[in-house]
Amino acid sequence: MSAVEFEELELTADDGVRLALRHVIGGSAEGPVALLLHGHGVSSDMFATEETRNLAEVLRDNGIDTYALDWRGSCRLPYNERGPRFTYDHVAAFDIPAAVRTVRERTGGRPLYVIAHCIGALALGASLTAGLVPGLAGVVAHGVFLTPRMSATARMRLGVGAELLRRAGPIPTDFRAVGLFSRRTPLFAALTVGAGRCPDPTCRIVHNAWGAGGELFLHDNLHPATHRRLADLAGPIPTWTLPHLRRAELAHTMVRFDDRDARFAALPASAVESADRIDCPVMLLAGSENRFWYDSNALCADVLAHRASSLDVRYREIPGYGHLDAFLGRGAAIDVFGHILEFLEET
Ligand SMILES: [Zn+2]
Repeated sequence: MSAVEFEELELTADDGVRLALRHVIGGSAEGPVALLLHGHGVSSDMFATEETRNLAEVLRDNGIDTYALDWRGSCRLPYNERGPRFTYDHVAAFDIPAAVRTVRERTGGRPLYVIAHCIGALALGASLTAGLVPGLAGVVAHGVFLTPRMSATARMRLGVGAELLRRAGPIPTDFRAVGLFSRRTPLFAALTVGAGRCPDPTCRIVHNAWGAGGELFLHDNLHPATHRRLADLAGPIPTWTLPHLRRAELAHTMVRFDDRDARFAALPASAVESADRIDCPVMLLAGSENRFWYDSNALCADVLAHRASSLDVRYREIPGYGHLDAFLGRGAAIDVFGHILEFLEET
């Protein structure tokens, strides 16, 4: 089989926000099940690029019954631009548990894996260490998991940006929507300063992680067609999540942001301190050239080896990959997805 087709399902998060859950058509109705979690500002489409062999079809073709969640930070949903405002507490407490529960209702007692990228993995780390999604068969966390660590520059930009951009509204991605002479043009220009040599402004802002700095992907790893449609694959990023990201990065562990809202009381004050609540094998994946989260996952493997030594934790570094290109890249099916299949088979 070739291109991926989805059965589109409705899903309501546990605080009533409407999300989307997509079921890959043609997967095995008996084998293991996988739930995919995208990063912030992209969407479930990152697992289903038509121009390359994508993760959804590789899983399907290997007998894995696959679901992909669009959590509230998805660019296929309206919340990044229009709210309601959210932090990653909402994602960990309301979105991921609802998706896991729904997939379980549909698939019975079959083993369920969660494969998560970037902020999706960070939020999953909070859900897991809160004990909200027990009994998974295994977890693949790409780029980052419990111990976020960025470059000093990104840390500074996050701090300054969180203050300066508090009322600026979402950080745009699509330069065609911003235009040369809008109120948001100077912001767009400022956020792409020093962002590599590509003349495409949308590529520059996504590559520059919406102004946080670093590199969201290795440019040459993208298929030209993927490069052309980056504005479809990535949407705006709201500024109201920056303080949470900043606090977690400063602590080098995923933290609960809102201590006053009782609905988040189950979330850990420090995911690392609660790592012993993880009850399934974990594979930490990272590109050797990740210039957004750098060695966060190597650090996480190290920390877990000390703090939760009974846990099955594997670390796989993918040579020649950055961050987002580990899923979007033209060679990802050969270079990356094999590690995921291997983990699923071994566990
Ligand atoms: Zn480019």
